Amino acid sequence: MSERNADVVVLGAGIVGVSTAYAARQRGMSVVLIDRREPGSETSYGNAGIISSGSVSPLNNPSLWKSLPKYLGNRHAALRWNPLWAVRNAGWVARFLANSATSRFEPRATALHGLIGASARLHREWIVKAGVGHRLRETGWLRAWRSDAVASAKQEQAMLADYGIASELLDRQAISALEPDIVPVYKVGLLHTETASVDSPGAVVKAYARMLEGAGGEVRRAEIKAITPDGNRWRVVLASGEISARHVVVALGPWSADILRPLGYRVPLAFERGYHREFKPNPARSLRRPVYDIDGGFIMTPMEQGIRVTSGVELTDRDAPSSFAQLDQVVPLARGVAEFGDAVGEAWRGSRPTLPDSLPMIGPAPRHAGLWLAFGNQHIGFTTGPATGAAIAAMISGAPSSYDVAPFAPGRYI
Ligand SMILES: Cc1cc2nc3c(=O)[nH]c(=O)nc-3n(C[C@H](O)[C@H](O)[C@H](O)COP(=O)(O)OP(=O)(O)OC[C@H]3O[C@@H](n4cnc5c(N)ncnc54)[C@H](O)[C@@H]3O)c2cc1C
Repeated sequence: MSERNADVVVLGAGIVGVSTAYAARQRGMSVVLIDRREPGSETSYGNAGIISSGSVSPLNNPSLWKSLPKYLGNRHAALRWNPLWAVRNAGWVARFLANSATSRFEPRATALHGLIGASARLHREWIVKAGVGHRLRETGWLRAWRSDAVASAKQEQAMLADYGIASELLDRQAISALEPDIVPVYKVGLLHTETASVDSPGAVVKAYARMLEGAGGEVRRAEIKAITPDGNRWRVVLASGEISARHVVVALGPWSADILRPLGYRVPLAFERGYHREFKPNPARSLRRPVYDIDGGFIMTPMEQGIRVTSGVELTDRDAPSSFAQLDQVVPLARGVAEFGDAVGEAWRGSRPTLPDSLPMIGPAPRHAGLWLAFGNQHIGFTTGPATGAAIAAMISGAPSSYDVAPFAPGRYI
């Protein structure tokens, strides 16, 4: 016997799940959102907080081939990989690399552009509605090179312009004018002017969850054990109790594939793990916006608690023990740019959930009515969570989505 009935149960209260639940509630459905932790406590907590209008180019883009030799030695801070993992996941690696073909760039960038644009609009609306508008900074995102990379910066600027995304090319002096308190180590910069950032992504997700509760949605803390079809409904089995729902949305981020396996779906989801560490800021020497040190392979973001330094990608099993080698490599580099004090708290680790084409799954499960998939948002899930959720809510209601969801159809892999 189920203890509760709902139109929609959303599994996972990261940015994707919270957004889905809120968007479904806005459409008048009864909604229960479930997570074993508080909303926004996992991947959606530890990211760099960038709402990136310009991230239309996935990591596996045509320039990846050129960069591969520098990653093969497994010493670069931007990308580390576990050779045993690579052998065991050779199929995923091959598919990921195949997607970096030139012919695969434009369709994926166009798809991401639609998703990102819709999502950035929702973030700007919801963050104010949720009462945390003060966390949003419209100061852009600075991508900076230590090397004389004018050609690379211009190439990126031209690609952004193809999608109508504005940016400004900066020299050393212009970078100093923008960030007067950092050491002038960067020769070239590209400011993504339409990009915003927040000073606590976890707090923003929590505020969206409170907004959901205020609108009549239920947020429940429970371990999700399984989902099973039950006539034309679903049974969501929790560690304590069950819920019956007409629709179930899987928004479990890097844990999404696990719950789908018993239903016969083998999802090719890999984990681009990443780390962060935060440091006490020096109030006299502040950072105004997130800065991506491209040659160093790290991002520094000013956060509520201090300067958050995030590392590049580590390709290995989701639950393998942490390796702080990348953080250890980049923190001294970051200290050479921005002045900050001692570490605040422990180092954090998370997993960017990534499918071989770097596009999320947004849509119905191919063989089960009422089962919806919303995960795989890779490096830009904080940005793309709202419109991922809004599209799922629209599809459940039989309404059109505000952007083209066809490229994100789960049926392309399962
Ligand atoms: C270092 C780093 C930096 C990043 N920087 C950015 C950035 O600047 N901008 C950006 O847009 N994106 C960024 N990202 C990516 C972004 O953080 C993720 O894509 C996004 O947070 C994924 O959200 P999600 O809701 O899918 O997953 P999650 O936030 O992980 O949510 C999944 C939820 O499912 C819950 N769950 C799992 N299993 C169970 C279970 N059995 N029972 C109950 N609950 C369960 C978890 O507790 C969790 O809360 C970054 C990622 C990393 C790692």
